[in-house]
Amino acid sequence: MPELPPNIDARDIYYRLFSHLPDCLVVVDRQHRVVLSNWRGGFEDVPLDKRGGQPPCAAIFHPDDAIPFAACPATEVFRSGRPTTRKFRHSRIGILECRAFPIFDHAVEEVVYVALQICNISDRIKLEKDLILCQKMETVACMAAGLAHDFNNLLTVVGGFGKILQNALTEPRLQKAAAAIIDAEQRARTLVERLMMIGDRRREQSEQLNLNDLLRDLEGMMRTMLGNHIKVDLQLDENLDIIRGDRSELEQVILNLAINARDAMPAGGRLTIVTANRQIDNHAPLHDQGLIPGPYVVLTICDTGHGMDDLIQERIFDPFFTTKDNGKGTGLGMSVVFIIIKRHHGHIALQSSAGGGTTIEVYLPR
Ligand code: ADP
Ligand code: MG
Repeated sequence: MPELPPNIDARDIYYRLFSHLPDCLVVVDRQHRVVLSNWRGGFEDVPLDKRGGQPPCAAIFHPDDAIPFAACPATEVFRSGRPTTRKFRHSRIGILECRAFPIFDHAVEEVVYVALQICNISDRIKLEKDLILCQKMETVACMAAGLAHDFNNLLTVVGGFGKILQNALTEPRLQKAAAAIIDAEQRARTLVERLMMIGDRRREQSEQLNLNDLLRDLEGMMRTMLGNHIKVDLQLDENLDIIRGDRSELEQVILNLAINARDAMPAGGRLTIVTANRQIDNHAPLHDQGLIPGPYVVLTICDTGHGMDDLIQERIFDPFFTTKDNGKGTGLGMSVVFIIIKRHHGHIALQSSAGGGTTIEVYLPR
């Protein structure tokens, strides 16, 4: 016990510290009854009649898991006498990290209680994921830049000689073969352009832009690209703020998102594009996801397509991740979108479910 000045009431301080810590602290006995808790960290609403020791702690702290809870950290600490840490998911609160410590009897022979510190780590996990994604992108960007450069040179040779052959050959069968070479060269070049976009970190062609103008310029092309079976609905805020950005990069973002929406609606549907000004303050939930408070222009792209389950959403920005057939998807569209948005100091938010369509919000700082 640390030495305290005589006028300080240690019990009072410990009690207040215990009551006000932001994490939930719990002490359980061998029957897993809660003998003490500060009921904080998301558990403020646990009704009084559930705080008295019944039901056992598992039903209160991880109601989403089967009881008895096989991976219970308290069970483990009672058995081993050593601290342990476990993570579990609480459907209402989020991802929780539970650190469990033994409390021994006075002879320090037997564990009589286990103390648990339950901390909501959802935001931390989200930031860690973002960081890993950024690092992954950096690696891919480096590789892409090198690859794209060498590839481009090779493609110039392939395309150039393809054309010479096409002109020199007279037999239709061989001419067709030469045309196929040129066609493959053109398609490979689009791929290389994407790789270059990922790899290019120097380009900074920032200018004052009105996102509405950009969308209106792209509207015709988008309608052709999407086909008659998809309705395009533009809802543009006429008072939209001007942003600074790279026009061709932002066009790329819009087109990539529109193409994905098209691919998700093979039998037709609706693509809604909305622009709006939005002020993000300190209390906005997105603030926790790495968005700096301030004024933003928000571009929302919403489709009525087949949507995505959680597993696809987890991987959507991964370079080369695609669910499309070989030759149809490159898995680079969303990586490019991610990189461009990050370069613009923006943020991308995704909302989707299997069968329920997809809404993507792009936040661009003003
Ligand atoms: P690609 O389109 O080449 O497959 P992307 O990086 O653009 O690569 O997208 C990766 C994957 O994310 C797609 O294969 C698809 O499964 C999913 N996806 C992206 N956008 C949507 C959307 N609007 N609706 C449903 N799934 C989508
Ligand atoms: Mg795509």
